[in-house]
Amino acid sequence: MPLLEVEGLDVRFALRQGEVQALRDVSFSLERGERLGIVGESGAGKSVAAFALLNLISRPGYIHAGSIRFDNEELTRYSERQWRRARGNRISMIFQDPMMTLNPVLTIGAQMIECLRAHRRISTSEARKLSLARLRQVQIPSPEQRLDQYPHELSGGMRQRIVIAIALLLDPDLIVADEPTTALDVTIQAEIMALLLELCERHNVGLILITHDLGVVSQVTQRMLVMYAGRVIESGPTREIINDPQHPYTQGLINALPQMTPPGQRLNQIRGSMPSLAHIPSGCAFHPRCDFAQLPDGSPRPGCQAQVPPFVDSGNCRVACHMVRQMQQLDLEEATP
Ligand code: SF4
Ligand code: MG
Repeated sequence: MPLLEVEGLDVRFALRQGEVQALRDVSFSLERGERLGIVGESGAGKSVAAFALLNLISRPGYIHAGSIRFDNEELTRYSERQWRRARGNRISMIFQDPMMTLNPVLTIGAQMIECLRAHRRISTSEARKLSLARLRQVQIPSPEQRLDQYPHELSGGMRQRIVIAIALLLDPDLIVADEPTTALDVTIQAEIMALLLELCERHNVGLILITHDLGVVSQVTQRMLVMYAGRVIESGPTREIINDPQHPYTQGLINALPQMTPPGQRLNQIRGSMPSLAHIPSGCAFHPRCDFAQLPDGSPRPGCQAQVPPFVDSGNCRVACHMVRQMQQLDLEEATP
């Protein structure tokens, strides 16, 4: 049984101008200790998906439909009290900004001890000892001294190490990390990612890594989802998707990587931009930006503007694209005499 099973997740925001759908029919699962990447440009719905997993969607947003099963319990039916027990304890979250986690007016030690004592019956000195052990694991120089420091006395990289230590403090089964290194210097980004990967592996903690950085996804995760305009448009083993993307949007993301561009040339950016959730194009939401929405003779490809593409299996991956489906049908017709 998977550790996490998300089915048909639909998140909406009730705005004065009307309701916008931030997530549509999002489904995926995660095995214990598995690492899953969620990628897409900003506005694709990645963070909404992360927040929904931890019940952090606040008004006017709400989960309209769908189920989130975690270790065989339905999280969408959890009370606030059950959530307080689960959050940080069984599922923890790492945000882009460490100050979303850290309290500026408490020392690092005080917040770690408070966090431990809120969930475990242990003495302050035991909690301090455990906190120190965690700080050592995240390779913080002079950990004893850090316990008595305030967040603002530390560098951004050090703060994010502490956030990782706090995320692991209560031995969670799952960490959801939303752009955990985006705010850091490039060299520090790599160190922090390597640390997170190592700790998740060592403690068999599942990781959902939300990022726009395909390089990081390919290094850290085993499976990935690509999101566009609130939907999953491609999912499967990370290596297969990176090596052989099927969906035109995924192909565009990979072609836009700096390493795919010869030196001195402009990056192959996907033309246009992510639609706003209030104005999602009909049919395949990607069609205004897609080079394949037209057939070679210039006529529109059937379905692209009118029908939401259904998922089709392609090897070990699933892809929502009319062209992929039509090509598969052609292959099938050719193969049957
Ligand atoms: Fe492009 Fe059509 Fe596929 Fe959408 S369904 S990605 S518009 S070919
Ligand atoms: Mg985001």
